[in-house]
Amino acid sequence: MISRIRGMNDILPPDSILWNRIEAAFRRTVARYGFYEVKTPILEETALFTRSIGDATEIVEKEMYTFEDKGGHSLTLRPEGTASMVRAYIENPETDGDSIARWFYFGPMYRYERPQKGRYREFYQFGAEAFGVAAPEQDAEMMAMAVHFLNEIGIKDVTLKINSLGDNSDRQAYKEKLLEHLRGRESELCEDCKRRMTTNPLRVLDCKQENCIAVAAGAPLIIDSLGPEAGAHFEKVKHTLDGLGIKYVVDPHIVRGLDYYNRSAFEFITENLGAQKAVGGGGRYDALVEQLGGPSTPAVGFAMGVERLIALLKDQGAQSLPSLDFFVIPMGEAAQEYSMKLGARLRSEGLSGEIDCSGRRLKNLFKRAERIGARYTIIIGDQELAEGAANVKNMESKEQQRIALDDIGRSTLK
Ligand code: AMP
Repeated sequence: MISRIRGMNDILPPDSILWNRIEAAFRRTVARYGFYEVKTPILEETALFTRSIGDATEIVEKEMYTFEDKGGHSLTLRPEGTASMVRAYIENPETDGDSIARWFYFGPMYRYERPQKGRYREFYQFGAEAFGVAAPEQDAEMMAMAVHFLNEIGIKDVTLKINSLGDNSDRQAYKEKLLEHLRGRESELCEDCKRRMTTNPLRVLDCKQENCIAVAAGAPLIIDSLGPEAGAHFEKVKHTLDGLGIKYVVDPHIVRGLDYYNRSAFEFITENLGAQKAVGGGGRYDALVEQLGGPSTPAVGFAMGVERLIALLKDQGAQSLPSLDFFVIPMGEAAQEYSMKLGARLRSEGLSGEIDCSGRRLKNLFKRAERIGARYTIIIGDQELAEGAANVKNMESKEQQRIALDDIGRSTLK
């Protein structure tokens, strides 16, 4: 037997029902803010990710599905969505100068991580990117839109944590201060963090190892090193969130795992998912479009993961039972023929249901009616055809009603 690949999942009902609910809520939410979908290829040139996400990040160092195609080109299954969005933005013939674009995406991402609950090698992300606006209100709007979406699907107990990573010069100066602190306690750090001290010291703040958390706790904070412009930007983001009634917590240790962020960085954190605490995250990335060969264009975006949201919804006891309006059990050939037509009529009235064609035993079929969540079960045999009426059983109340066949429909299957 051939099994699925480790870390990759089949999404089966009833989980797929929650999945569709999440996807629909996201599409509904972003449409209210005027964001449009962009679909990009799942495969990209490897350089797109190494040049954007950053050579010294976990993703690029360890987690990419990279291979050579038959033409000898290095290709990578996308590990995240933003790099592809930026490439598409730059390649879009309508992009000129500082065009504004409000885009969203929804699709599978690939990271060769150690699989565990909430962490897979294929997972689905959806996200939104706003290109062309540098104002702090844009950052706040993105955060507000993400919160709006979480409210729309009824996710509770998720905290919006925000930070500012400052401008490039602020970050350079801060890195020196941070390194000074880290050097004094280098022996306490994990091997990865010792390496990060030379490659990407900010990531030490984000490490989940206990010892590193202790070292990070005493480190200087980047928000204390913001220049006046980045500082004013951060204040305005907070002010705008306050004005919108969006709750947040300033967490100076939010640094995000990708290199391209500046100024706002934010994450949506839950304590209900065990080790995987982030359901989503984002930030501003004003240099990335230019860095990848486009015109200088400010941008801000966020991404969320579907699998973790499904886990959260289930944890909250969300119902994802299948439900149908009717299940018809025909007894005999003439009844089967009639039932097929009855099904067609009921569906044309907007009802949904199943006509049994298996001819299995009645006991089994009643079990099936329960499993598919049929609200009404209708048995039709020769006698019903002759009398022009059938017993319609309400599966919840267990009551049966005799209804003329022609009257079975939207008004009787309420
Ligand atoms: P990131 O791009 O790493 O900030 O991820 C954004 C969101 O995608 C996370 O908050 C998760 O919800 C989701 N995500 C990232 N990596 C994985 C993974 N390996 N498995 C499942 N979900 C993931």
